[in-house]
Amino acid sequence: MARLIFPNPRPRFRLKNHARFTAVLLVLLLVVTAVVVALGKVRENGDSEAASIVVTPFVPPPTPEPTPPPIEIPEGKSLEKVIIVLDAGHGGNDPGTISPYEDGFYEKEVTLDIALKVRDYLTEAGIPVIMTRETDTRLADTQKEDLLRRAQLANDKKATLFVSIHVNAYDLKYPGARQVKGMEIFYYNKGKQMMFEDFDSYRFAEIMANAIKAHNGIQYRGAIKNDLSVLRNTKMPAVLVETAYITNQEDHARLKSAEFRTKTAIGIAEGIKEALETLQAFEYEGELYVFKELDAE
Ligand SMILES: [Zn+2]
Repeated sequence: MARLIFPNPRPRFRLKNHARFTAVLLVLLLVVTAVVVALGKVRENGDSEAASIVVTPFVPPPTPEPTPPPIEIPEGKSLEKVIIVLDAGHGGNDPGTISPYEDGFYEKEVTLDIALKVRDYLTEAGIPVIMTRETDTRLADTQKEDLLRRAQLANDKKATLFVSIHVNAYDLKYPGARQVKGMEIFYYNKGKQMMFEDFDSYRFAEIMANAIKAHNGIQYRGAIKNDLSVLRNTKMPAVLVETAYITNQEDHARLKSAEFRTKTAIGIAEGIKEALETLQAFEYEGELYVFKELDAE
């Protein structure tokens, strides 16, 4: 008599009653749910191979960018966007000072070159710049009108700061004129009503002088009060940087050198940045702002 190698299979489940059947179904449901949830977790963890088979993962709706709180404007002040006006001295048929050592070397070319470099540094730093000129041109045919338009541009654009860039010359009819060298910074006090609290053109001149000296190492002859058209007619803190003397041979070599121009431009840009920090300029939604005195002219 042959022996059964395998005993008769017995059914695993006997459907004796409904309760038992329901219990089994429930267990099955639980198992399926557990698998679905587990696969969902796997998908969330980045195992796309396993997840792509079964479950559509839960994708949370994009969270909106949090809106920053509105700017609180202090009493007596107005909110203004930061704008720097850079003025490259002279241009066009006004060459500015002329080299006594080399034909065709003019102030207007140096001032524009430095100003364009300053513009690039500031733009790179996210500081908005407007130039009075970007090419070899002047703004009007007469010097008086040309200077007035430069100041007017800064006023119309509600500039925060105004920087005019020039090259100095000493009158060569005076003995020892060729020995005079170095940088001077001109400023003009615009009276009692200041655009910013505790910040006038003299303070701006000091900041600029220190920043430029630190970068190009030039001898500094000091800040000089000077009733110049662009300084008198601009409403914001303004300085005029006389970078170096074209009439001095050492300074002449500096003005010719790309390195000196670059370092001077970096110094001017750093001075402007430091002045903006002093004015507590701040960024709001990608734009730079300052608070100005409301009653400033
Ligand atoms: Zn000049």
